[in-house]
Amino acid sequence: MKINVLEERKSSISGMDMCKGKGICCEKESVSGAVSQRACVYCGARVVLNPITDAYHIVHGPIGCASYTWDIRGSLTSDSDIFRNSFSTDLQETDIVFGGIKKLNSAIDELMEKANPKPKVIFIYATCIVGVIGDDVEASCRTAEEKYGIRVITVKSSGFSGTKSQGYKLACDAIMNLIRPYKKENSEKIFGVNFLGDYNLAGEIWIIKNYLKEIGIPVISTITGDSSYDTLIKAPSATLNIVQCAGSSAYLAEKMKEEFDIPSIKVSFFGLEDTSNSLIRIAYALGYEKIIEKAKEFVKRKSAEYTPIIDKYKPYLKGKKAAIFVGGGFKAISLIRQFNELGMETVVVGTQTGKKEEYEIISSLVNENTVILDDANPAELERFMTEKNADILVGGVKERPLSYKLGISFCDHNHERKHPLAGFEGIENFVKEVHTSVNSPVWNYV
Ligand code: SF4
Repeated sequence: MKINVLEERKSSISGMDMCKGKGICCEKESVSGAVSQRACVYCGARVVLNPITDAYHIVHGPIGCASYTWDIRGSLTSDSDIFRNSFSTDLQETDIVFGGIKKLNSAIDELMEKANPKPKVIFIYATCIVGVIGDDVEASCRTAEEKYGIRVITVKSSGFSGTKSQGYKLACDAIMNLIRPYKKENSEKIFGVNFLGDYNLAGEIWIIKNYLKEIGIPVISTITGDSSYDTLIKAPSATLNIVQCAGSSAYLAEKMKEEFDIPSIKVSFFGLEDTSNSLIRIAYALGYEKIIEKAKEFVKRKSAEYTPIIDKYKPYLKGKKAAIFVGGGFKAISLIRQFNELGMETVVVGTQTGKKEEYEIISSLVNENTVILDDANPAELERFMTEKNADILVGGVKERPLSYKLGISFCDHNHERKHPLAGFEGIENFVKEVHTSVNSPVWNYV
């Protein structure tokens, strides 16, 4: 049975002959009733701020919003694990009628009284209902800052007020709000980089930090994976920002350029080509001959070590067809390159929050007949994966059941995973996982 695509969705899908001008429509609100896979504004903000290891998070809203909590990311910590807790004001009907500020103030007081260690920073998330009833969360935060002498930062993240990307921006504003007061004391530049848009899933930040250390590049601050209040406030002193997940952090990099004069480059540590290029580009951006030489030597050595692993699995994967549906465009681009390295064809590719320029790069990397779609829903994924005979879907937790129900193998590339897919070590994990999934005998019984 051919699944029909909603008329309003056709302009966001390549090949549906509805696109006005070049490319597909993206960076817009989801179509109502289309069952978008995107999360809400609050979730976008929470997902970026959550990995700050010693931050406290109070979700001002009904308890349901707080269900989006520590297990949303497999972020690892080298120190505090306070971020694994979540606090909620648990708003009830009477609070919605008479206002929820009293409850918020008591929640902050209770946290300050009972929390151990004492908070240095608390993020207060205003959710949908708080946006509707109009609680003055900012005033509450200002009062708490004066009363306790710590940072209490509002994130005005009513779920309905935009897309998940809006939540990313609000999180970036909250980070700027946190580090801005330390601009003066960190105005003298130190040789080193800030690593933006990596969330230390399965310890990936530690892998990349080790590479940079070997090349001779110190990391001043990681934002936000394995970060803390004390490391974040040093960020203004860095000489360069390297931005992995541009979808969530390009805006922060822009702000840091404007206010702290830190230039930035986009990087990706997924796949041999992107990992190698990124390390060399970072070295060039820093501009020291010795660092550039060391980066080239490091990449040459690692490529020689990992190319035979790709070559070993390539004959089993050559000609297989892949579908991709991930959060941001940067990851989709890296995945297409990884599949190209393996001799596989990407037949369907989509993202939740991809940008125009990312879709242009995607178009240049895939075949003319590849279906490219923005903000897809499960029905569309089902239709195009079936039509294109995909052998594997790379996606997140929401796509896994769909894939298995269709008898298509699945690779989890989302924040819940427990094994690293970044860096050279990640290449080996990824190739092995794709091989064992695609070539599993179980698919013969579907
Ligand atoms: S959409 Fe609104 S109610 Fe739902 S989780 Fe997001 S903030 Fe909470």
